Amino acid sequence: MSERLGDYRAKRDFDRTDEPSGTTDVPSAGGPPRFVIQHHDASSEHYDVRLEADGVLLSWAVPKGPSTDPRDKRLAVRTEDHPLDYIDFEGTIPAGEYGGGSVIVWDVGTWVHLTTDDADQPVSVADALANGHLSFRLAGEKLAGGYTLQRFLPEQDQWLLVKHADDEADARRRPTSTQPESVLSGYTVQQIPDLMGEG
Ligand code: MN
Repeated sequence: MSERLGDYRAKRDFDRTDEPSGTTDVPSAGGPPRFVIQHHDASSEHYDVRLEADGVLLSWAVPKGPSTDPRDKRLAVRTEDHPLDYIDFEGTIPAGEYGGGSVIVWDVGTWVHLTTDDADQPVSVADALANGHLSFRLAGEKLAGGYTLQRFLPEQDQWLLVKHADDEADARRRPTSTQPESVLSGYTVQQIPDLMGEG
């Protein structure tokens, strides 16, 4: 089990939440690293952007969700690393528990790390995080192309998520509004609680 999941485990009571416990070693699927964006209807609604790296899912909570417009700067608050098997978690975290509320997998795919230094040499993901500048390319079902995460408030681990001005940029798209459903189940985050209640 990854030592990096201590914060994740400490925040949760696994007798009460169906979230993955983070105790089982989950082998990487092989191939390119994966990403997931989960829509989370918690006390304050947000999107969780998670990138697979070094055996965990690096995580940021983005209140307004990702944009496809390069002019938008979306607040992204870094949160605790999550276990790899969180990548397909959907369901309802009970009220009163950490993150209580419903979760759907809004987008999923693979990502490529693009960060380079001033001499155009590749930088490791760990160094990019330490330096507060991470550049990457997504290949998802809803989102594609380049994005940058840039830290602007280190004390609170606050970053900005910005779309690169590339072929996949589109100032007219509003994917969080027009494509609200899960790429796994087809349910929106509002429908998931009804589903669980009926089950
Ligand atoms: Mn969340």
